[in-house]
Amino acid sequence: MKFEAARQRVVEMSVLLADHGYFAATGGNLALRVDNDHIAVTPSATDYYQMSAADVCVLRLADLRKIDGDRTPSVETGMHAQLLRRRRDCMASIHTHQPAASALTLLSMPLAVTRRADCDLLGSQVLTVGYAPSGTRWLSGKLRRALRADVNAYLLRTHGAICCGSSPERTLQAIAALEALAIAYLRERIAAREASASLEQTVLRKLIAVLDAHPVQELIP
Ligand SMILES: [Zn+2]
Repeated sequence: MKFEAARQRVVEMSVLLADHGYFAATGGNLALRVDNDHIAVTPSATDYYQMSAADVCVLRLADLRKIDGDRTPSVETGMHAQLLRRRRDCMASIHTHQPAASALTLLSMPLAVTRRADCDLLGSQVLTVGYAPSGTRWLSGKLRRALRADVNAYLLRTHGAICCGSSPERTLQAIAALEALAIAYLRERIAAREASASLEQTVLRKLIAVLDAHPVQELIP
């Protein structure tokens, strides 16, 4: 089997992501750079707990021609390829439908990254990519146009996230850092909304008290 160690690594990463809820059922996929010209990609519509290294597809990065593997490559292969062609510094890319980051895609706004440890993994910010149906060239083209050398995490509008990194381990860490950042951001938004709602209630209560103290006088008794 060609590139057996890398394909086994794809299996291990997929099981780890499934164990931690980042890959749910057959949702989510990933690609590893195996040498300068080839990538190993998760197969399409596969139960990651049943997947073996032989199921993992090896493709030529330039034109996505299949070199080895028993299955059809993931429908999002084009998206991973765009990323790994453009970001030669990255060894892996992972696409998930992870809960908090996916929820955040509904807001369609970039996220600032402030903590040093997060910046090391995610880059200076998390960027958004406009909506396009999954598995289409339209979506991979939108990602390609959004890619930047200093950003490793992207939110795909009403869909999910994609992260890249200088090693498989750092890409896995980026996925977890993005989820933690998304949860923190959503908590902040909810707290701010509750605070402004309670401020509004206080103002309204005061207004009612003022109105109660000054009942409407009939002009003509
Ligand atoms: Zn997806």
